[in-house]
Amino acid sequence: MLTKQVLDYLLSLLFPKTCLVCQRKGSHLCEDCFSLIEINPFQRCLCGKSKNVFKCPECSPSFLDGLFVSADLNQKVLKKTINSYNSLKELSMPLTLVILTHFFLLQKDYFPDFVVFPRPVDKKEEKRTGFNKTKEIAKMLSEKLKIPLMENPDQTKDKNVLVLDIVYDASAMEKLAETLKQNRAKEVFGLVVAKH
Ligand SMILES: [Zn+2]
Ligand SMILES: [Zn+2]
Repeated sequence: MLTKQVLDYLLSLLFPKTCLVCQRKGSHLCEDCFSLIEINPFQRCLCGKSKNVFKCPECSPSFLDGLFVSADLNQKVLKKTINSYNSLKELSMPLTLVILTHFFLLQKDYFPDFVVFPRPVDKKEEKRTGFNKTKEIAKMLSEKLKIPLMENPDQTKDKNVLVLDIVYDASAMEKLAETLKQNRAKEVFGLVVAKH
């Protein structure tokens, strides 16, 4: 039996990692290119007009209690990373780091009674990519933020929920928030890596 380290080494010989942006060898996204991603140091309301409030008077009624958008999708490095994540599972790491940096900039490090709930990925999508894209990131967030990962809406009763997705999709997020509220979740917040 090969150990994971040996296997990783052999794989790296066969498939050397290069930065998807600058082609430098060593990792799929090098530190320099990662540092080019502009991460939001603020949080916006649902309609996007006001900073650092969850809902402004102009926000439409919603089952969501708020939304965390870690970064703007309209930037080259981030877009490329998100697109490449369809086939490179390891990019879950820098994408998780985008979210963690956003929380760091907001000085948000306390998540009482929170759970992280990854947007369910349909089987076809999972088969195509070979892994569950939202769950991979949710697993890391669960570990770093020290909050449980839940995949069944029943488990979110009386909990505050961070619904995790990669790119914000208003209708998908709203539908999930509605389902979670029907299952008696307390507060439901959207959390996405990026938004258009
Ligand atoms: Zn690079
Ligand atoms: Zn608003």
